[in-house]
Amino acid sequence: MTLASKTAWQLKQLLDSKQTTCVEIMQSVLSEIERREKDIQAYLLIRKSEDLILEAETIDKKRNAGIAVGPLSGFPVAIKDNICIKNVLTTCGSRILENHRPIYDATIVEKILQADGIIIGKTNLDEFAMGSSTENSAFHPTHNPHQLETVPGGSSGGSAAAVAANECILAIGSDTGGSIRQPAAFCGVVGIKPTYGRVSRYGLIAYASSLDQMGPLGKDVRDTALMTQIISGYDPKDSTSIDTEVPNYLSTISDHHQLTIGVPEEYFGDGLDDSVKAQVKSAIQKMKDRGHTIVSVNFPYTEYAIPAYYIIASAEASSNLARYDGCRFGFRAPDVKDVHSLFTQTRHQGFGREVKRRIMLGTYVLSSGYYDAFYSKAAKIRNLIAQDLSTIFERCDVIMHPSTPTPAFQLKENINDPLAMYMQDIFTVTANLTGLPAMNIPCGWVGNLPVGIHLIANKLNESTLFQAALQLEQTLHETGQWTLPHMNES
Ligand code: GLN
Repeated sequence: MTLASKTAWQLKQLLDSKQTTCVEIMQSVLSEIERREKDIQAYLLIRKSEDLILEAETIDKKRNAGIAVGPLSGFPVAIKDNICIKNVLTTCGSRILENHRPIYDATIVEKILQADGIIIGKTNLDEFAMGSSTENSAFHPTHNPHQLETVPGGSSGGSAAAVAANECILAIGSDTGGSIRQPAAFCGVVGIKPTYGRVSRYGLIAYASSLDQMGPLGKDVRDTALMTQIISGYDPKDSTSIDTEVPNYLSTISDHHQLTIGVPEEYFGDGLDDSVKAQVKSAIQKMKDRGHTIVSVNFPYTEYAIPAYYIIASAEASSNLARYDGCRFGFRAPDVKDVHSLFTQTRHQGFGREVKRRIMLGTYVLSSGYYDAFYSKAAKIRNLIAQDLSTIFERCDVIMHPSTPTPAFQLKENINDPLAMYMQDIFTVTANLTGLPAMNIPCGWVGNLPVGIHLIANKLNESTLFQAALQLEQTLHETGQWTLPHMNES
């Protein structure tokens, strides 16, 4: 078993007992990249090996000198390429930002560096995080490490694939409608979208500001709890950041409470692949066998969630993306005769098809005469969904249901069918519309492809989310429904 295939908490134990070094860990990850990256293409940018080894050496030296090392102990961390790193190309998967080098670090990047994480590179994504397959990247698609001709999901497909292929130890993604959890499900890794406002979004390039949130992807629940701990907390630079104390997730993660688990009936109906349904039902049954209470709950607005999400997300995107005009950032169309054609040509040449579709849709739903018909209706649906969920959380600790309607689909299968692509988000958008914390836990296989179960908890209740997720993960592992390879070896 390679070092790269171990979890962060296992590596930490090996480092503490001096059985390995940060340099060895880095070398192991770099050799996985060498071996697999040409087929998977998870990254848009990988930093120079010499620099990475040098940084690992610095942390080893610190440790050897008896100086306290941060909780990320030199682990290679991959960052989605819509997150700003000072002087490092940050493209958002778009031609329009092809040459963009931010002049500052995102808060999340600062926190990872302070915790002694080593940023190994920038991962591929759908352009401006719009998509569910990473095929909308202007540069290249990413392949699912479990079956190369299928997609890794999206938009954080590069981050999920990098974790699944051991091309990093932990990764960061962003999630506006499911972009951490859906690729985590397709690639068989754990991914969490924390509560809206729990993690500062300063330095995340905005897609839909009332929905966007960043979060970690890792090999198991404990690793994502570790990273959530590091990146959470109030930040005055983000006006939506929540100013409350961050609980110690790791110290309570093994607590065994009797949980009441809500299962929404509407999420097991038409459109859900039978084999996904069987895996998720069996996982829920296993929680019942462990003594937890399962109750049936209702999500009566299920059919309106996707339209409401796509109206709100596109409306906000049309406004957020207005800043890309050739004057201030990135690409500028050459040979234009006046300011008007500078704007139109820059945007025409710089944005891809899906981004243009969203800008047009968003501009339309916000325009006079249509605002009431579309945008304000979507906002009302959002409120109704939030009210329903808060009633459910009066009697439930967590909600469980499938993460995605199907396992990973083939590359190119849905690329010309935007509606089929949008339906991928059917089970994940609720958590964004309501701001609730939610995560994907791998729960089994359909052929060679992993599928995931989705957990939602009440606002700011990541602790309960992690406790439920850890119990579920252990149960699935013990019963062989999902094996954690790193748990089978010492
Ligand atoms: N697939 C959804 C979309 O395209 C979600 C994307 C995301 O969460 N960034 O909008």
